[in-house]
Amino acid sequence: MTYSIKEIFYTLQGEGAQAGSPAVFCRFAGCNLWSGLERDRAKAQCSFCDTDFVKTDGLNGGQFSTAQELAQKCHSIWGGDTSENMLIVLTGGEPMLQVDGPLISALKKQGFRIAIESNGTLVVPREIDWICISPKADVPLVQTSGDELKLVYPQQENSPKQFEKLDFSHFFLQPLDIQQDQQLDNDRQGDHTTAAIDYCLKHPKWKLSLQTHKVTGIP
Ligand code: SF4
Repeated sequence: MTYSIKEIFYTLQGEGAQAGSPAVFCRFAGCNLWSGLERDRAKAQCSFCDTDFVKTDGLNGGQFSTAQELAQKCHSIWGGDTSENMLIVLTGGEPMLQVDGPLISALKKQGFRIAIESNGTLVVPREIDWICISPKADVPLVQTSGDELKLVYPQQENSPKQFEKLDFSHFFLQPLDIQQDQQLDNDRQGDHTTAAIDYCLKHPKWKLSLQTHKVTGIP
């Protein structure tokens, strides 16, 4: 299988339960809920995306013809001590369109603990060490268990209540970024953050997730 990769970079995880952890981010090209092209956004199943996952022209991006080749590239980008805690975050786009058994094995051979950020529309293999699911719009969830469920808030079609019974260890609300906001154009960023804080205060099952990389300027 050939893997289409938008970009690979080393940074700190900015969101959720692992915020602050050093990690290689491997961004897969392509998503099943939007083409990534602005002309298609209004009709897309997911319309508030703030990520460029089109083509393979980002930092360290490209086509990788084997799992080993991609895993070695990811290892070469790890910027810290290689003795422990090597974390890789598979993200996108939708990584589960491309992640397969050979790639999981190759990354583990390189010493990585594997995290994934998925929209939950495809089954995530159990061999992945940390599963983060972020439901989008009213698209049915297929992956209903994992380590963290991260809901962008508010969304017109999704309320936190409908996810509370699912089998996740952490439940996060992440304020909708004003730049992502195509539907709620009368709201301001502060309103989204205040609404998320209010909801967490009233429903302590939920914790606030802030996009700390945007606050700190870390890429
Ligand atoms: S599912 Fe994720 S990657 Fe795909 S369009 Fe929505 S926010 Fe973007």
